[in-house]
Amino acid sequence: MTTHNSERVGERLGGCDPSTLAAQFSTPLLVVDEVWLRARMRRFRAAFERDGRDASVTYAGKALLIAAVARIADEEGLFVDVCSLGELETALRGGVPADRCIMHGCYKTRDELAAAVDRRVRHVVVDHESEITALADIARDASSSVDVLLRLNPSIAAHTHELIQTAAPASKFGFSLADTQAIDAVRATLARPELRLSGIHCHLGSQIRELRTYADAIDALISFSETAQRQTGARFEIVDVGGGLAIGDADGSAEPTPEAWADELFAALDRRLAGSARGRPHLYVEPGRALVASAGTTLYRVGVRKRLPDGRDALIVDGGMSDNPRPALYGARYGVSIAGRESEAPTGSFTIFGRHCETDRLFPDVELPDPREGDLLAVRDTGAYTYSMASNYNRFVRPAVVLAANGRARLVARRESLDRVLDLDVTEDA
Ligand code: PLP
Repeated sequence: MTTHNSERVGERLGGCDPSTLAAQFSTPLLVVDEVWLRARMRRFRAAFERDGRDASVTYAGKALLIAAVARIADEEGLFVDVCSLGELETALRGGVPADRCIMHGCYKTRDELAAAVDRRVRHVVVDHESEITALADIARDASSSVDVLLRLNPSIAAHTHELIQTAAPASKFGFSLADTQAIDAVRATLARPELRLSGIHCHLGSQIRELRTYADAIDALISFSETAQRQTGARFEIVDVGGGLAIGDADGSAEPTPEAWADELFAALDRRLAGSARGRPHLYVEPGRALVASAGTTLYRVGVRKRLPDGRDALIVDGGMSDNPRPALYGARYGVSIAGRESEAPTGSFTIFGRHCETDRLFPDVELPDPREGDLLAVRDTGAYTYSMASNYNRFVRPAVVLAANGRARLVARRESLDRVLDLDVTEDA
């Protein structure tokens, strides 16, 4: 499959010139178009809050959480989902009030649970049995209380890459609905006065295109609500179906719209609750990728052009799997062009590699107009799960991030300094 993506580059750089950005901030550089990001957030809220529907949108911070982005999510009226102490502290530093933060995690440390209690986050999403006791004990010792959602595993294998399914029969997350774990968890939570059980949660996975899967999740969660109410008297005010809405692929495959997602979920709720005397639950969704991926563009500098023994033409750029591990992890595909030369006709197909000591094939079969060493490459839709998954492999430093709007860019994450990385080592003479 070849990828020719000359349309659209430039327009997600907040009106900034890519060469100027590269000269000012160096490369690799993640540029987040602030106007586009805010527009995505507003569109999701509008889709879910229309017609007086009782629903809220949470930004799944794991997609890209730096203080400035957390602040934007809060300013746009979204809750922020955090899944570690680091993410919680980042959101708080960004000015997100704790009662707008939802604490996730399949193995929260004691420190993380204590921070969630101490800071008074909106909800802790409890994943497993021992966490109920641990959280309740921490709250009791702090003479406090915590609002809880229970994460359930409804055994739905979403049509996506196996490694990003999170509610399949073999998934590690949440209380299984296949046996008595989930109902036992309801009882155990109700038995602890420090815990307030507000609702239930599931997250099916990522890059989900088939919206019907979400209707299956609603069916499973509402059925469980009915069982729980019958067996324990619990009434869930909140049903959270997680995130996972797909974005389009570089090959041009369509992406589901937020409006279609909302329609599917509301229709499933309407169907499921028709004729029922039960009140409607408040619906939460928590997209990450669909909000932030398309706001991001990564700029790389081409350092090497060469012909491989198999006859293919290759480029090597100044980043790689340390700033974007997704091609290596899941074979993720991206749209790539030469910044400033989008209007030129392609002259051939190129395989683009990162400069790590592995295959580090980032972008296969990209048609480009005679790329030269020194050219700037613009890689689209890189806002999600790139910077947030970045590493120091080969002792590379993590790239800088800028927010761009109206022709101006401001630094929101510094390029990591090599000293900072080297300082982690304890040497004998230190
Ligand atoms: N909610 C939870 C609990 C998650 O684990 C994730 C991603 O892993 C998300 C939401 C967001 O998923 P996505 O970025 O695919 O929308």
